[in-house]
Amino acid sequence: MILAAANSAHEYLLNLNWTMAIDILVLLAVAVLVLIFFKRRNSIKLALIFSAFLLLYCVVWVVNGLFGYLYVTKIILSVVGMFMVGSFIVVYQTDLKVSFSKLAHLGERGSKSSEVDTTYEEMKAGSDEIVRACQNMAKNNVGAIIIICKDSVPSHILETGTMLNAGISCGLLESIFNTRAPLHDGAVVVKGNKILAAGCFLPLSQEVNIAKELGTRHRAAIGITEENNDIFAIVVSEETGVISTVMSGKIKRYMTPDSLSEQIEQAFGISARPRKERVKEHKFL
Ligand code: ATP
Ligand code: MG
Repeated sequence: MILAAANSAHEYLLNLNWTMAIDILVLLAVAVLVLIFFKRRNSIKLALIFSAFLLLYCVVWVVNGLFGYLYVTKIILSVVGMFMVGSFIVVYQTDLKVSFSKLAHLGERGSKSSEVDTTYEEMKAGSDEIVRACQNMAKNNVGAIIIICKDSVPSHILETGTMLNAGISCGLLESIFNTRAPLHDGAVVVKGNKILAAGCFLPLSQEVNIAKELGTRHRAAIGITEENNDIFAIVVSEETGVISTVMSGKIKRYMTPDSLSEQIEQAFGISARPRKERVKEHKFL
């Protein structure tokens, strides 16, 4: 029996043509992509379930070729497969949306509307306005999320919000995040001395080790900075009034006005040199 199976397998492998070989390679590539996708989202159990399913599908496929057609098994696997793909799309719709948007803008450095040319004084004034706005919002328990883009601004983020292209001012930031204002949900995107957009949707972090008291606003700030190391995020908590900053997925909480100002200036790239040298030399292109 085993010998017969081995012989049949040998024969089957000898009869493999290049289209079958391509099929196997495509299946392997899908398995690897699925594994990477879930590993990045700390969902190893789901990765194992998907991989086991793909493996089972391969086994049935080979058995079909070797010994004849397993109709019922194939139908059951196809139905389960469709169900799994459907659930995957529902659970990971945000990640898929971001990935497709990135794909659509492959090769672009950022949107043209995100180009900002500015000076040290303007940047410093902008930083002070952000600090003041955050302090006021924290005092009044108004929730806010502001991201500062050092380099290019991701188009897939801007597209989800409303373009403003306005100067940074404490009043404007407070008006945007006023809970009765239409744009208060979502993030404000800042580049140079401009508020480029408001109401922007950010990708949520899938990290499992985030403190329980931090909800989606904080997760969004962690998510976007995990995705893009050039983005600095500030979060004001509506619940606690605590101001936090996030860089490369790492959150620092309980910011004082001084520490916040220092970090914003670092994000703006205006903190390292003596004041006199800084004038008129910051180009944010
Ligand atoms: P807080 O401490 O202010 O309550 P939180 O981290 O507990 O913040 P939630 O209470 O869930 O978070 O805050 C919900 C608000 O966060 C939403 O109304 C919206 O304004 C903002 N938010 C949620 N998800 C996103 C996202 N993906 N991108 C941008 N903003 C988001
Ligand atoms: Mg909350």
